[in-house]
Amino acid sequence: MKLRVVVLGAGFGGLELTSMLSEAIGDDLDLTLIDQNDSFYFGFSKLDIMFGNKAADAVKISYNNIVKLGVRFCKETITGIDPVTKTVTTQNGTYHADVLVIALGANYDMGATPGLAEYGNEYYTFEGATKLSDVIPQFTKGHAIIGVCGAPFKCPPAPSEAALMLHDYLTRTGIRDACTISLVIPFGSPIPPSPDSSKALVKAFEERNIQFIPQHKVASLRAKTAILDDGTEMPFDLFLGIPKHVAPDVVLQSGLAENGWIPVDRQNLMTKFPDVYAIGDVTSVGTPKAGVFAEGAAKIAAADIIATYKGNKNEAAYTGAGSCYIEFGKGEVARVDVDFFSGPKPFGIHHEASEALVIDKEYFGSSRKARWFGL
Ligand SMILES: Cc1cc2nc3c(=O)[nH]c(=O)nc-3n(C[C@H](O)[C@H](O)[C@H](O)COP(=O)(O)OP(=O)(O)OC[C@H]3O[C@@H](n4cnc5c(N)ncnc54)[C@H](O)[C@@H]3O)c2cc1C
Repeated sequence: MKLRVVVLGAGFGGLELTSMLSEAIGDDLDLTLIDQNDSFYFGFSKLDIMFGNKAADAVKISYNNIVKLGVRFCKETITGIDPVTKTVTTQNGTYHADVLVIALGANYDMGATPGLAEYGNEYYTFEGATKLSDVIPQFTKGHAIIGVCGAPFKCPPAPSEAALMLHDYLTRTGIRDACTISLVIPFGSPIPPSPDSSKALVKAFEERNIQFIPQHKVASLRAKTAILDDGTEMPFDLFLGIPKHVAPDVVLQSGLAENGWIPVDRQNLMTKFPDVYAIGDVTSVGTPKAGVFAEGAAKIAAADIIATYKGNKNEAAYTGAGSCYIEFGKGEVARVDVDFFSGPKPFGIHHEASEALVIDKEYFGSSRKARWFGL
């Protein structure tokens, strides 16, 4: 009997898990990978798109490239998940699984921040980043705010990166002196587990005259004014927002989520339902919402599924470790290696920006492209 696996979501987590199962189980695998989109893109591509460094179409990788033993990709929208019967409904039909994996990521609740949709912009969706590639060139003077509207949010360095890249863009176009930049984030420092990375970022903000406002969220917007959670009003001419994150509706309706996200056993990423796993941004496992952590969780869940199928016990536990690259502008890239579960508290090691890390980040992207898509 083939092992019937249904993987929901072909992002970082879903793609890595699918690759591992195909390699280990091959012909005995009957895996259906479902996603509503026709292509994948890395989260960090959105920064390139919004600042015009890359065209939107250039960063998309078509799911048609997935050719793996025992795997078929279906471009469908998931409309229902029953974790008890391990049944999934899409607009086209119904899928039954022996093992079900939820890797549906996080969505955004624009309505949670009144005025954001009307008066602001966001760069966390592909569409938002693409729209900004037209909006940013129209900003020629005044105050730009990069503002976080809720936590948790994906890729904690991304607001800092946007501030540094905006500085770079405005300098390149010769209008930096006519503009001011502020960055509002809900944490006490840019990357809380790594004091050294935070120190390097705060120094970079000071050197570039970027006003850093920690410990605050943007609560609402009205025309040309952002209102912070303590009532402070900040006039702006350009607002680049990070919207409040939420689990996809289909997850919230499935009974899998508690307090907004899916709780899992940290040992193997299984939910409270037998043979139903959840990985990546859709969970409350305790790591930041980032691709590297989704991928790390996928490796453990896959190892558990493979071991169970082969009648073995999976000994590997999820350490919550991962490396995040940090764009400092001018093409400079630093890295922070973070570990959430190995020690008594999360800790991070900072690696200064260097040429080697630019190549490292390129390899990070190209190696995933090769592994997941054979490109
Ligand atoms: C600006 C920005 C920069 C970032 N930079 C980095 C970085 O440098 N490094 C890093 O590690 N991470 C980065 N990230 C975060 C990273 O992109 C995410 O954390 C990562 O993609 C999460 O992986 P995932 O597998 O959990 O979910 P996702 O990759 O989001 O995949 C979820 C998939 O589920 C699909 N889906 C959702 N609902 C449905 C449905 N109802 N039906 C069908 N399909 C559905 C979606 O289409 C999507 O393809 C960045 C994010 C942003 C926004």
